[in-house]
Amino acid sequence: MSMPTPLPKRRATPRVTSPLARSVFSDGSVAGALPLAPMRPLHQLLARLLAFAAMLVLAVQPAAAQSILRDAETEALLQELVDPLAEAAGLQRGAVEVVLINDSSINAFVVGGQRIYIHSGLINAADTANEVQGVLAHELGHITGGHIIRYGEGIGNATRISLLSMLVGVAAALAGGGEAAMGAMALGQQAAMGSFLAFSRVQESSADAAGAEYLSKAGITGKGSLTFFEKLQNYEFRYGFRQDEEAGFARTHPLSGDRLARLRADYEQDAAWDTPPDADQQRRFERIKAKLYGYLARPADTLNAYPEHMTGVPARYARAYAYHKQARIADALAETEALIAMDGDDPYFLELKGQVLLESGRPVEALSALRRATELTNNKPLIAALFGHALIATEDATHHEEAERVLRAAVARDRENPFAWYQLGVVYGAKGDIPRAQLASAEQQIMSRRPHEALGNAESAGRGLPHGSPDWLRAQDVAMQARAQLERADRRN
Ligand SMILES: [Zn+2]
Repeated sequence: MSMPTPLPKRRATPRVTSPLARSVFSDGSVAGALPLAPMRPLHQLLARLLAFAAMLVLAVQPAAAQSILRDAETEALLQELVDPLAEAAGLQRGAVEVVLINDSSINAFVVGGQRIYIHSGLINAADTANEVQGVLAHELGHITGGHIIRYGEGIGNATRISLLSMLVGVAAALAGGGEAAMGAMALGQQAAMGSFLAFSRVQESSADAAGAEYLSKAGITGKGSLTFFEKLQNYEFRYGFRQDEEAGFARTHPLSGDRLARLRADYEQDAAWDTPPDADQQRRFERIKAKLYGYLARPADTLNAYPEHMTGVPARYARAYAYHKQARIADALAETEALIAMDGDDPYFLELKGQVLLESGRPVEALSALRRATELTNNKPLIAALFGHALIATEDATHHEEAERVLRAAVARDRENPFAWYQLGVVYGAKGDIPRAQLASAEQQIMSRRPHEALGNAESAGRGLPHGSPDWLRAQDVAMQARAQLERADRRN
């Protein structure tokens, strides 16, 4: 069993200490005002935004340690890993979502609802997709068992959604998290502070039993589950992790020799024990693991873990991010071209190429790769949103119609992408469609926990939109959410 290459440890600095980061979240002038820009100033404003973003990449990074990580390829695989288990649990495919949290400790948890949160540190510590599936089965057991970890106050700090399709700082500056994200963030922080409440032993064994049942029904071997839990236990023994923040999973899900022995007995007599794990899922797991590492780790660490003599897809993926973060654009592009040479129709390779070009200030060149990636994935929202972003960044008004179309399609399928709302606001603003620009701003602001601005924009939008139209109804909805957020904030104070 190989040791995982360590991800960068969470920095000790609290994430809101950067005065710049704080001002971005609280004053709202940067992201909030932009969508209303008419045609001519759009150019200047984009320039301002890019300059601002460049500044933020440096300034916000220390604060960007914990956020929800969103990436189309990663989410597709995690969904595929959880779906058969959800079905085995009597739920629909797609009913249970897996949300990835940027946190280097090894943990996974549920907060309530049908979402399983897993830390990037867990992906990094896992060697196989089957190991991750074992954890998902166990967490699903907590969901179906109705085991909820109670968590106290402390919810209310701004939180973020980071898109892997954007360099860290830019996304952190512009994006916020939804309601569920809030709970997750607060919970993650409490886990780090050691005030986390663990599941009881009874709940643990019931989740184990349920997880084993789901794996069995889905015909998936429990070997990965066992190796992963044993690995965690070994870490504890070897490094005395129990008192350390890295012991996240072990503390929230107390491990014991009894539990493991019981699991082993259950798994070994299962018909699926000797079923080989899915080779395609394993191949894709190695890709997303490397991709996350490249995105999250320091470039020097990535280049150590994936030196240039490694020429497989995972290594090239990881290095492309490392070079991109170092602004070694030619090297980053060489890696993406090598990937595309292996499979020209892989939408995620094309997405990465588009990202590198777009973020290097070459949006026009990014268009064909991103348009193709959008087509190949049948408008996967995160990829379509990146394409929409590139279309707008060309500052060519003839692209606005296409941008509006892809961005509308993106947010219709996936509302939790504040950056897509932001881009959509830019398009409406450029077209002079002020009410819809205001509505898009309101959508982005409500997600970023800026209820004052969201309320103002939603009310203005409501006055300008045709009474009773879907957009008008949506404006009423957002205004209502904003008022609820404001009331909750009042009650806390
Ligand atoms: Zn558990």
